Order: sequence, then C-alpha cells, then structure tokens
Amino acid sequence: MYWDPAVETLNPDRLRALQRERLRETVSRAGQSPFYREHLAQAGVSEAELNSLDDVRRLPFTTKDDLRSRGREMLTVPWDRLVRLHASSGTTGQATVIYYTRRDVEEWADLVARCLFMAGLRPGDVFQNMMGYGLFTGGLGFHYGAERLGALTIPAGAGNSRRQVQLMRDHAATAVHIIPSYALYLLNTFAEMGVDPRDLPLRLAFIGAEPHSEDMRRRIEAAWGLKAFNSYGLSEMNGPGVAFECPEQNGMHVWEDAFLLEVIDPASGEPAPPGVVGELVFTNLTREGMPLLRYRTRDLASVDDAPCPCGRFHRRLSRIQGRTDDMIIIKGVNIFPLQIDKVLMSLPEVHTNYLVELTRKDFNDIMLVKVEVRENFFKEDLKYLTGLRKRLTEALKSELLVTPAVELVEPDTLPTTEGKAVRIIDRRE
Ligand code: ADP
Ligand code: ZN
Repeated sequence: MYWDPAVETLNPDRLRALQRERLRETVSRAGQSPFYREHLAQAGVSEAELNSLDDVRRLPFTTKDDLRSRGREMLTVPWDRLVRLHASSGTTGQATVIYYTRRDVEEWADLVARCLFMAGLRPGDVFQNMMGYGLFTGGLGFHYGAERLGALTIPAGAGNSRRQVQLMRDHAATAVHIIPSYALYLLNTFAEMGVDPRDLPLRLAFIGAEPHSEDMRRRIEAAWGLKAFNSYGLSEMNGPGVAFECPEQNGMHVWEDAFLLEVIDPASGEPAPPGVVGELVFTNLTREGMPLLRYRTRDLASVDDAPCPCGRFHRRLSRIQGRTDDMIIIKGVNIFPLQIDKVLMSLPEVHTNYLVELTRKDFNDIMLVKVEVRENFFKEDLKYLTGLRKRLTEALKSELLVTPAVELVEPDTLPTTEGKAVRIIDRRE
C-alpha cells in the first residue's frame, strides 16, 4: 500500500513536529547562502526564533524574480558538490534554474517513486514516459522515480506521435506519463493508425504539468481505458513529486515531510482562510544544495485537511485553478482558464482543443473562444451549428459571468504543441 509507510502515515502531530524540526534546519542551512544571509538579516530572524510553524511567516518570501536574478547566490554547497541542473519551462518568462546535489537527486527520485507507488505502479509494469527529456523536470524526474520503484521505463520523450503509439503497442506499456492536452491529441494518432488504446494493456496514466478539469480527466480515462492521476510539481521544488493523487482521486497529497505549504492571499500576502483558493507558497524542508524559503509559486489552489480514507495525513491540494499570471480580468470579472476547460470538456460536441483570444476594441475587452467541434456534429446543417454556438455561449456565460464570443471550428485545426498547451492569447494593447 505505501512506499514509505512510516512517513506516509505519520499522524498530524508528528508530521507538524517533523516539519518544525526541519524548518529550523532548513533556515539554518539556507542562511549559509549569500542571498538568504542577507535576506534573513534584513528580516531580523534566525532559526532559533522559529518556535512554531506559524513563525515561518516572519521569513521573507522568495519570488521568481529573485530566482532569475540571484539564483546562484542561493546555493548552500560548494560548486563541486552539484551534479545536475534543470530549468523551468519558461511558460511565463525567463526560465528559472535549479541546482541539485547527488543527495537532492536521490531524494527527488524517492519522492516520485512514492507518488507512483501510491497510484498503483509496481515492478513489472512497463512505464512509457512521454514528457520532454532535458531541462524540463517532467522527463528525468519521472524517469528516475520509476526506475527507483523498479518499473521497466521507456524514455520515449515528447512528441513523435506515431512512434509513441508504436512503442506502447510493441512493448505492451501498462502506464504512461503524459501532458493532458497531448493525451487527447494523441487519440487522433491512435485513430489514424487503427489502434484503440482500450485494447492495449494500459491501466495507469499520470497527467500533470498544466491545468486540466475533472471533465478532461474523465475524457482521458474513458478514451484510453485507464485510471488517470493528477500530478503536481514545479522545477523550483525539484519538479514532479510535490503533490499527487492517491487511489481516492480526490485531491493531491502534498508530501509535507519534504515541503512546508502555505496558502496566501496573493494580494496581501496574508494566510488565506482554510479551504479558500489562494497562492501556494512552499519551503523546502529537505533540500541540500538550494533550499528555497517561502517560494511564491503563483499557482492557485485550495487545501483540504480532512483525513483521507487512504490513511495518509499529508494534506490534499485541490486542482490547480491556474496561475496568478493566467487570470483573465474581463469587464472586472476574474476568469481562470480552468473554468473554460470545465465547461467545454463536459460537452460531448466539443472535440479536443480550444483557444481563447483576448482583444480590445474602443476600450472594451473582447473575449473570443474558438472551439473545435467533433466531425459528426460539424457536418450538421447551419441551423444546428447556430444552435450549438448559442448553447456553448450560454454555458460559458453561466460559468464565467461574462458573455464571450464563440466561434466553432473544424476538428484538429487549432494549434497544438508537444509541451504545455497554450490556451490563451492576449492581444490587448
Ligand atoms: P513553468 O512555470 O515555466 O511552466 P515548470 O516546468 O517548472 O515551469 O512547470 C511548473 C508549473 O506547471 C507549475 O508551477 C504549475 O503552474 C504547472 N503545473 C504543474 N503540474 C500541474 C498540474 N497537475 N495541474 C496544473 N498545473 C500544473
Ligand atoms: Zn489519500
């Protein structure tokens, strides 16, 4: 049942005690780096004054910009102790770089193995990793974790769709790691090749790296004939292996022995009330080479601290609603890409892809949602399509509270990427 039973089933009191101890160690270690020595001095705190977990709030935040401009000054070990570096995908600007010691790489692999084991991967499984290998953490992070667990690992990498299908078929893959938008896209390739994924021995998919709705997960599960587990991580916190769904599939357990989680109101920086969506802030509790204190992820989610039937007390994250940067403000209303995903993916007429375009005309924001419609519906007459467009507009309006313009397009005509989907194009200004 558990990869690391002692840690996974720690009761809340013991888990908090462990966090307190590790927080002090981390602050003491971080204080050896030029960046944090300066910042801790400015804030006037030392590890000795951290008596409770709430005291973490006395520490300064670390931002993406800090990492971009002064990342190397956060190292706490000599240069020759580092064995690996990764970078973020750069979705929202210049990529951030993270350095790992040998111990960091091993601990990361162990956390990922813990996730995979929790979702049901076992030695004997054939695991195809369809994430980009290289600087992106999704490739090597999962690779090391799956090997650590003892699964036969196929380092397929991203893209090259026909070969992906062929590899799955030839090697009887039982598990895959895949970006959710690509999992839907790949269905076209399966169809072209006359292969039904449900006829393959696939039973598990690990999906993450981009926001996706519950409806999207259900679509993937139905079309592929497997169970799909949500996987959350970010390069600044190693990469994958920060939070992962258990077999209950009801929120992602954050490994609180390794990460101290706070949820804050992004505007004020103050703690968000329990259960309310806010920005996730993480502090590394075990990292050796480059421990980050109170790293502001810009990712928005809420936390559930109710006990989980699986027996793990590590608190659970809701789906990531999006990033603070992705929030669209239209006519004063806040909109998250996930809301659009939820509406569109719940409608059977909608094919696999959609795109939101924002423009401004005469000081008015205009939101255009381009939606791919499935072939058999697209063939219907104009009256049907007009009706469908109206229904889509209504459905989006009732979720978003603003009325978007909707354009129906033919299946597989919107741009796709091998990596994270680009769902929003902002042409305002
Ligand atoms: P970048 O921030 O440049 O995309 P990363 O490659 O490190 O860099 O990706 C981490 C980010 O990907 C997270 O901060 C989050 O925004 C997004 N992400 C990762 N996993 C998920 C997930 N399961 N659901 C939604 N978003 C996710
Ligand atoms: Zn659970």
